[in-house]
Amino acid sequence: MATIPTTASGIAAAIASKQITAREVIDSYLAQITARETDIHAFNLVTADAARAHADAIDADIAAGRPIGPLAGVPIAIKDNLCTHGVETTCSSKILEGWKPPYDATVVSRLRDAGAIMVGKTNLDEFAMGSSTENSAFGPTRNPLDTSRVPGGSSGGSAAAVAAGFAPVSLGSDTGGSIRQPAAMCGVVGVKPTYGLVSRYGLCAYASSLDQVGPFATTVADAALITEAIAGHDAMDSTSIPQPAPALVASVSQGVAGMRIGRVTDLPAGAEPEVIARLNEAFAALEAAGATIVDITLPSLSYALTAYYLIAPAEASSNLARYDGVRYGLRVNAVDTNSMYGATRAAGFGDEVKRRIMLGTYALSAGYYDAYYGKALKVRRLIAEDFERAYAQVDVILTPTSPVVAFPFGDKVDDPMAMYLCDIYTIPTNLAGHPAMSVPFGTGAHGMPVGIQVLAPALGEAPMFRVGGALENAAGGAK
Ligand code: GLN
Repeated sequence: MATIPTTASGIAAAIASKQITAREVIDSYLAQITARETDIHAFNLVTADAARAHADAIDADIAAGRPIGPLAGVPIAIKDNLCTHGVETTCSSKILEGWKPPYDATVVSRLRDAGAIMVGKTNLDEFAMGSSTENSAFGPTRNPLDTSRVPGGSSGGSAAAVAAGFAPVSLGSDTGGSIRQPAAMCGVVGVKPTYGLVSRYGLCAYASSLDQVGPFATTVADAALITEAIAGHDAMDSTSIPQPAPALVASVSQGVAGMRIGRVTDLPAGAEPEVIARLNEAFAALEAAGATIVDITLPSLSYALTAYYLIAPAEASSNLARYDGVRYGLRVNAVDTNSMYGATRAAGFGDEVKRRIMLGTYALSAGYYDAYYGKALKVRRLIAEDFERAYAQVDVILTPTSPVVAFPFGDKVDDPMAMYLCDIYTIPTNLAGHPAMSVPFGTGAHGMPVGIQVLAPALGEAPMFRVGGALENAAGGAK
């Protein structure tokens, strides 16, 4: 048997050219899951039988000379807040335990149409609220590079699955950093596309004006490949941009000669010294590759975290009202309907979700709406204007992804503010609706990986991937 390639593009090419079968590929990844999943807990559910059956069907198509999709036979792990038809979707919450969606998320059906094979549903912070995956109702995911440390969050299971070799690629969702921050902490590539580029149909909503689906991968080219496969207009999502998916893979190897890269001189402080050292090396590498570094300021950035923690909980308090014991999953019976709602929500939601619902309800309540929610929206506008000014001078902006490397379990669970600060550099792009990606770039404290974040203006995925490709080369070359 030929060796199994480690990238999605390599796997797809080897299967299409009959060097290897889809069944051999899936069996090899399932064997890796069997070997390490007990230690990692990347998954809420491994769909091994369905994955093998799907692989056999692809092999039968190939043997019969029938056409196959561009990702035929590529294993992929799916965050457990993306609806999968007939397959339990929990959002790592007790309130949804046992719920089987009657439809697929658009991203899931697009990947299946392209021939990708789902290996399982990955663990997350409950309803994607968190930065360490410690808020999962089903127990935390461990970082494959050091199992005493968190994988980041909220898409910690998707990041860990790729880092542990359980799948070459996975999908996560990013509302304030939940793809990029765990990608950085697990040493893999993570992409949050432009708001509206990828359909949110079938993504369990956290904060609808911020949520976006995107990929994790071991290489920048694979991340571009999966972004291409899931992007493009979807009539089922009213915020979907009415344009076809852009071509992105070709950008990855185009180099950065002549590009203008922004360095934020008033970046909020708090990053570990090793993280700042890697950032400076990244600037130097891009300059050596022919880019020009341009100093810029983003004065409103220091208010982004505060604005986010009003806007996101406000939207969550409304979105999560649907979990009432009537329509989905858990129901705790009580004497009347109102008591049933209360008992179900008290038993079904974890502490962090309750904290967000209360914060959001308060921020939206009469008398406080203008002071909190209204003011946060004004800050959101100022941040967008800061970026607009900056992108008149530069093509992309470089920052750290996370101020800290992966931390030990329990380090921040009793201090929500410390946990929230993990997203200080990722949140601004969500508020602006722009794309951003994290590329692994060396290591920091305790030998844990550091991620460098590339920010770009709306629909600036192509320049973003050019810079991502150049950073990957500088960090040691594409695998
Ligand atoms: N950590 C942030 C939060 O808890 C972001 C989460 C996310 O992007 N889903 O809200």
